Amino acid sequence: MADKVSIHPAIDDGVRPGSADFTGGTLVCACADRPVKVAIKGQIAHNHACGCTKCWKPAGAKFSIVAVAAHENVTVLENGDKLAVVDASALIQRRACKACGVHMYGPVERDHAFKGLDFIHPERFQEAGWAEPGFAAFVSSIIEAGVGPDEMDGVRARLRELGLEPYDCLSPALMDYVATWVARESGVLRA
Ligand SMILES: [Zn+2]
Ligand SMILES: [Zn+2]
Repeated sequence: MADKVSIHPAIDDGVRPGSADFTGGTLVCACADRPVKVAIKGQIAHNHACGCTKCWKPAGAKFSIVAVAAHENVTVLENGDKLAVVDASALIQRRACKACGVHMYGPVERDHAFKGLDFIHPERFQEAGWAEPGFAAFVSSIIEAGVGPDEMDGVRARLRELGLEPYDCLSPALMDYVATWVARESGVLRA
């Protein structure tokens, strides 16, 4: 029997449901010495697997696990001096640990539907109970990171098996959310 297609170590053995009691926690980078710690207040939202080439992922993973938290609920607790912006021109201002490379939080600061939200990687929580991923985004983009096009049927089948509907952009709900914001900004859609 062929090995299961690996998606990400946090979900390869199955997606663990989050807990309704989760009230937040602390994200910790991978450094043994002086790890960066970031507090997240409250449950995360829109957690998903992402195949884009910008999100941080652990070595060997095809996808990242990424979610959002409101910016006011994100606080750097320790060793923030180790953080640097990965790409200042990007929509998401990802802050990575300069020593281990883990992205700790990425705020959206420019005018956009996602302004006010920070993108975080919940697998870095030291606590359990964070809301589980609900879909897979930018699936075709993993080809840009070196996955063979002939592997894609297997990847999509495995994502569906895990309950993560694969999309090649964001989920329809988020695409509608973004387009609604644009339509309101332009005046095409009122109120
Ligand atoms: Zn680190
Ligand atoms: Zn991504």
